[in-house]
Amino acid sequence: MRKKVIAGNWKMNKLLGEAVQFVEDTKDKVASKDKVESVVCAPFPYLPTLVEKTKGTNLEIAAQNMHFEESGAFTGEVSPSMLADIGVTYVVLGHSERRELFAETDGTVNKKAQAAFAHNLTPIICVGETLDQREANETKSVVEVQVKAALEGLGEEQVKETIIAYEPIWAIGTGKTATSEQANEVCTHIRKVVADAVSAAAADAVRIQYGGSVKPANVDELLTQSDIDGALVGGASLEADSFLQLVEAGT
Ligand code: PGA
Repeated sequence: MRKKVIAGNWKMNKLLGEAVQFVEDTKDKVASKDKVESVVCAPFPYLPTLVEKTKGTNLEIAAQNMHFEESGAFTGEVSPSMLADIGVTYVVLGHSERRELFAETDGTVNKKAQAAFAHNLTPIICVGETLDQREANETKSVVEVQVKAALEGLGEEQVKETIIAYEPIWAIGTGKTATSEQANEVCTHIRKVVADAVSAAAADAVRIQYGGSVKPANVDELLTQSDIDGALVGGASLEADSFLQLVEAGT
């Protein structure tokens, strides 16, 4: 039985006071870690404060990105060791907005995944197709290439610890959710890709989230699908009440 992971991706939203308020409102209400993993993916400047405030609670704090290098002349970047050093435990890698707007490639996502494991950070690796690719019937081949490239060189135990977020780009922030069957079909395919590329045991253990206009009204149906092990949620994770409902659905 795979434990569900509900992650709220705030993207570039909230000021510090709002971020702290959210955490105060949720940290003691999210269900216990052995039932569901609850993660908030916050902007960099808030990470140390939020990690401090959530110590000893069931709420985990993630970064939304990082560089793969340890240190050096990379102005404006944040390294994996910096995140680990302040107590961050998860990191989102290769979100479609990073791929589209900030030129992330499958190659950089793979380097970042390796760097994450070198620092005991759990990577949430995002994959997904564009609308054009879906209409051209390329969804499965597109995610297959992304998943294989992202996991290249990782050990079986690392793959078991990886979280993959399947996010069809046409469903992100648009209000258009993939139907639960559409979402599950791709998640099942991703699990098969992991089985072929790594091992059956890794495929059985890897958690696969769905993301794209997930909200309290549709989360239950998505989470009852055979291969969907959680959700990566943008818009509906910004309000504490809504986030708590999503987490509850994961229990
Ligand atoms: P959304 O975003 O829930 O607002 O569609 C999901 C995401 O980008 O992770």
